[in-house]
Amino acid sequence: MWDYSFMFPSILVLFILLVFFFSRPRLPIRMNRTFLAILLLELSIMVTDIISSEMDNNYRQFSGAALYLMNTLYFALYIFRTYLFFRFTTDALGLGYRENRLLHGLLGVPFLIGEILSLSSFATGAVFRIDGAGYHSGPCYSILYICFFFYILASLVLLIVYRQRLNPYQQVSGFAFNLMLLAGNAMRILFPRLLVMNTFCLAAVLTIYLSFQNPDLYLSDRGDAFNMRGLRALLSEYYRRSDYCILGFSILNYNQERSILGGRQTDQCLKQISQYLIGTYPRFLPFYLRSGRFALVGPASAQWREILDAINARFQHSWGVDNTAVYLNVSFMLLNPNSRLDSADRIVNNLTVAFEVTGKPDASSHDDPLGMQTMQQLDAQVDVLRSIESALERDEVEVFLQPVFDSRTRRIVAAEALARIRDATGRIISPALFIPIAEKTGYINRLGEAVFEKTCAFIRENSLASLGLAWINVNLSPIQCMQRNLCDRFSAILDKYGVSADQIHLEVTEQSIADFALVENQIDRLRERGFQFVLDDYGSGYSNLTRVKHYPFVNIKLDMEVVWDYCRERDKLIPTIVQGFRQMGFSITAEGIETEEMAEALTGIGCEYLQGYLFDKPLEMAAFVARYGAGQNPFEQDKTKPTGK
Ligand code: C2E
Ligand code: MG
Ligand code: MG
Repeated sequence: MWDYSFMFPSILVLFILLVFFFSRPRLPIRMNRTFLAILLLELSIMVTDIISSEMDNNYRQFSGAALYLMNTLYFALYIFRTYLFFRFTTDALGLGYRENRLLHGLLGVPFLIGEILSLSSFATGAVFRIDGAGYHSGPCYSILYICFFFYILASLVLLIVYRQRLNPYQQVSGFAFNLMLLAGNAMRILFPRLLVMNTFCLAAVLTIYLSFQNPDLYLSDRGDAFNMRGLRALLSEYYRRSDYCILGFSILNYNQERSILGGRQTDQCLKQISQYLIGTYPRFLPFYLRSGRFALVGPASAQWREILDAINARFQHSWGVDNTAVYLNVSFMLLNPNSRLDSADRIVNNLTVAFEVTGKPDASSHDDPLGMQTMQQLDAQVDVLRSIESALERDEVEVFLQPVFDSRTRRIVAAEALARIRDATGRIISPALFIPIAEKTGYINRLGEAVFEKTCAFIRENSLASLGLAWINVNLSPIQCMQRNLCDRFSAILDKYGVSADQIHLEVTEQSIADFALVENQIDRLRERGFQFVLDDYGSGYSNLTRVKHYPFVNIKLDMEVVWDYCRERDKLIPTIVQGFRQMGFSITAEGIETEEMAEALTGIGCEYLQGYLFDKPLEMAAFVARYGAGQNPFEQDKTKPTGK
């Protein structure tokens, strides 16, 4: 007689698990499908176990065919259960069938043999047979145990080999549920009449539920979007697929918005946004990745540009919380992981960097904010970001100096300090690449300070006069101007190196003064401290003459494009502007002078200073000293020879 009194509470618990499993959103990933299969299989196996045991106990009342049918079903399900638990382990470890065909092919053999023996038992009597005295175990009955032990052993080995793929909690749970299955089987062998095996399996299912399958583990706590863990789980399954896109968007100035609105209201907005995504794009998977960042994952064939426009349009309207209309600005990125080797880690890593890079107000670049980013582009940005971090960490930001010349005498008068960093192979990365990224990620503050400090150290070590320099220009990003203690920090550095503020001219671009209010205060303080200001890249931006007029610049640098444009086609505009500025008391520098003709043309219209490749490219500090030290001046002209027009 079999005792199956254990089974009724087990069925009840399983039922509760099923209800919970279906009550929350789930990711359409393999692990979830396998778990659902396990739940359903456990339920059917318990029912089959009860029915077949009951029938075997009262075998006389049933036909041979019915007894064979129920017992065959039970054994087939039993072997399938063994295999499903093993599949759950491989799913949890990210060892998908498609990517690991050989492993799955080889490890599927015992399962197949077990199933063939069970299903053919009605003819062969291999696993069991039914005769006039009822149910009997067959000669191959032990295949049940062989299969079970084989798959548990295989699971344990895989769990050890690939343990890094799970967090420590999941590692322990992975071992725990397999050991519970092992214990269940041992009980079945020791006490065959006690149908306690199912209870052990249920304990294993519960362990899995608590550590891997609880839907809340993959859901964000701001609405019903999935979280970062969910995104990682999804992307590990999408490994080597390129038929999907990730649309990311991020609330601009999230922290600021949060401090203005308060945590509760912000969270309500985030929930509304999640609900909007779920409601509007039911076929897509929405994720909330903290810090005001969302992602929508869907097929590559979708009309992403339209979706993006629609979401953008929705953000033109308010999100309403407690009768307050909250307007939020967002920036977008569209990511198509089209490399077959993009691992989940790499994609998530790149996505995070992309959020960092696009998630801030765009201070200096004119990037298409809705532009499609390929993984290669993001990779390049990640590399640049890593190089910035490593240069700052190891104090390896370099400063190159480019000389500036008096246009009449061709004597060196000043130099511009230009930041350089190197990539992992030691090659120089262009500032055009790393400055915008440093600005968007906030590293520009440290980077700008490093350049400023190295310039001060240079001034202390080399007397400016011996190099023929009256000052050195240092570029100042608008982001730096927003730093409240900028003036104090620069003052401290000046004091540290015993450098006087009038030895340094700070270059700010036209764009930075476009947002006048933000930088005005800082510029005033720095001026009081003795720094002088230069307007860089004049003509590249908004060219607001009124603002220029009210600014205390000592010098205006014509942007290279303006200079080149004038040299290609001489017009009256540039000479007029230059004359106008001169009458207002500004001196003018022409940048990007590459030929003698250009030098003469710009000198002719009244530019006092020239800077460009005709004279020198930016030089390493040592090379600069070697070239211009001890009063050497390779370009000084015979003062009797007239220059310009
Ligand atoms: P910028 O301040 O306008 O610097 C002048 C740029 O023009 C330099 O590029 C210089 O190498 C380049 N240049 C000078 N003469 C010529 C020429 O004759 N022909 C050509 N084709 N180019 C010439 P670089 O060093 O690549 O710097 C690019 C920009 O990056 C700078 O433009 C500046 O806006 C920014 N930058 C560089 N260093 C720093 C820094 O320390 N802080 C900040 N905030 N920005 C920096
Ligand atoms: Mg400059
Ligand atoms: Mg410039």
